[in-house]
Amino acid sequence: MRATFLHAPGDVRVEEIDDPKIIEPTDAIIRLAAACVCGSDLWPYRGVESVDEPMPMGHEYVGVVEEVGGEVTTIKPGQFVVGSFVASDGTCEICRSGYPSSCAHRVFMSQVGTQSERARIPWADGTLVATPGTPEPDLIPSLLAASDVLGTGWFGAVAADAGPGKTVAVVGDGAVGLLAVLAAKQLGAERIIAMSRHEARQKLAREFGATDIVTERGDEGVARIKELTGGLGAHSVVEAVGTQESMHQAIGSTRAGGHVGFVGVSHDVSLSGEDLFFSQVNLLGGPAPVRRFLPELIDLIWQRKIDPGKVFDLALPLDQAAEAYKAMDERRAIKALLRV
Ligand SMILES: [Zn+2]
Repeated sequence: MRATFLHAPGDVRVEEIDDPKIIEPTDAIIRLAAACVCGSDLWPYRGVESVDEPMPMGHEYVGVVEEVGGEVTTIKPGQFVVGSFVASDGTCEICRSGYPSSCAHRVFMSQVGTQSERARIPWADGTLVATPGTPEPDLIPSLLAASDVLGTGWFGAVAADAGPGKTVAVVGDGAVGLLAVLAAKQLGAERIIAMSRHEARQKLAREFGATDIVTERGDEGVARIKELTGGLGAHSVVEAVGTQESMHQAIGSTRAGGHVGFVGVSHDVSLSGEDLFFSQVNLLGGPAPVRRFLPELIDLIWQRKIDPGKVFDLALPLDQAAEAYKAMDERRAIKALLRV
């Protein structure tokens, strides 16, 4: 089969490798319906994370089950499935408490790689959710978004305690930030402020439910959020970037007693204990427990109540994965889908 590897920063190649096989009796093998490139794939692509040897790439996936191991009981060959970017057993105490992305036996799918024709999914019963049937082709991008960016944006909004009567601010206008806007809208937020200075992304944010756009960043961005909220700050702030500036901006934009949901993969962020102490905000973040939300998200997509697949503004064949990375790196694309 063909699969995508990163050999060195900026060097993406699609190569022929052996088909994956069942290794553990809890595994499934799926044939992907589509793959995609994530904002977090850009960290090693840009050399921010080191690349010591060719890395399999990709962690988002939807597709049809081809084969299951002997201990898999709920997932069956022929089913169309969506899974989280973290494989989880679904049975440990952490999974049962709603945090499957920190499962005691978790496997990050980025170690497996899913920008490929097939993939081995560990812990199939705990990780995969079958759709009600074979999806119409136009639903595939939205189902693929559920695997990570929608689930992550959703967790950001839930962690930020978005809901009726709340003003929610979203820091970051990548796919996760835009889908956090969609999530805040679904969760019933009264006012949703998207922080973006990119016209096409502002437009999509408005389609997803943003009521206000703030183009300022850093301290100016914080001042603008305060100005829009009677000097108090937002009740709920989603941080969807992962840098020092974005984290600082998110905490600074939150009112005392408010909640920050931080879902941008953190890189070189250091926080002052004194600032944290006096901010008096609730902080919850980390790798999103996407599997917790998948049944609800699949249902919303299946009933066509949400259309998160709109974040894919570029679609290329798998063989052109290198161009997909380049387009996202240069911010010419919000998110690139790879046709398998
Ligand atoms: Zn678990």
